[in-house]
Amino acid sequence: MNLRCDLHSHSTVSDGTLSPAELIMRAHDNKVELFAITDHDATEGLHEAALAADKVGLPFVPGIELSVTWSHQTIHIVGLGINPDDPVLNQGLKGLREFRQERGAKIAYKLEKAGFTDALQGAKKFSNGEILSRTHFAQYIVEQGKAKDVRQVFKRYLVNGKPGYVSGQWASLEEALSWIHGAGGLAVIAHPARYKISATRLRQLITEFKELGGLGFEAISGSHSPDEEQRMTQLANQFELYISKGSDFHSPENIYRELGAMQDVQAGSIPLWHSAEWKERIGDIV
Ligand code: AMP
Ligand code: MN
Ligand code: MN
Ligand code: MN
Repeated sequence: MNLRCDLHSHSTVSDGTLSPAELIMRAHDNKVELFAITDHDATEGLHEAALAADKVGLPFVPGIELSVTWSHQTIHIVGLGINPDDPVLNQGLKGLREFRQERGAKIAYKLEKAGFTDALQGAKKFSNGEILSRTHFAQYIVEQGKAKDVRQVFKRYLVNGKPGYVSGQWASLEEALSWIHGAGGLAVIAHPARYKISATRLRQLITEFKELGGLGFEAISGSHSPDEEQRMTQLANQFELYISKGSDFHSPENIYRELGAMQDVQAGSIPLWHSAEWKERIGDIV
């Protein structure tokens, strides 16, 4: 129950600042006992990470965080225990990454109208590969001295209603779950308290997620307050979802919480890693 686990983190493969191997070393130094890397829409770091984890004896689960549009809202679905080389999953990811590139060009155009020059090249300097994230635009704007930190850039420029925001269509919930399940993984609703949706719609999301075979709910997230963790744990219990926990770590400078530094799953709830489905699909690694 009191396992020091962290099932949500990002590397330079998406919008984090540590390489997959550096992230593994940091998790190891922080005495994490079960660890997943879940880059946005990409699996490229997972082989490097698995090798590094093996070297230091860290139990490692290959993961992903998929961008999904559900009912006109962007939500994130974490997949755990996926095969990084699954062809159908990778075909789906290719489409998401192409959309990221197209969206990036539109964001840059809008930012240029708002007075920023060379935003596309600037953002690409911060991106390591094919994942072009709003985070990279934010890092460029901070570098230009136009905002004090990434959070401020989001608030002023990159969220819905602000000059650099571009909407679009990510994967459907159905596609996301079928890719994760097809790749042998378990699906988790990421940071459920972060979505700007009503309690009723969150319940609808959970109902549809369960109908599609989803099992996990990230009630314990580095981006939740203790009160949100409490409410999300109750919701998971009501819907008989297993609890997942993850820091959503992106970089040492900009942490919600440090790797592994989250509260325990409460007594009375079932952690995802104790479920029969976890044992069946991922194994008895803990
Ligand atoms: P994208 O998937 O490219 O639209 O970017 C989403 C990412 O931006 C998230 O995964 C976070 O890492 C980051 N992000 C979103 N909102 C904020 C915010 N308000 N402050 C800082 N980072 C944010
Ligand atoms: Mn991110
Ligand atoms: Mn997320
Ligand atoms: Mn994340």
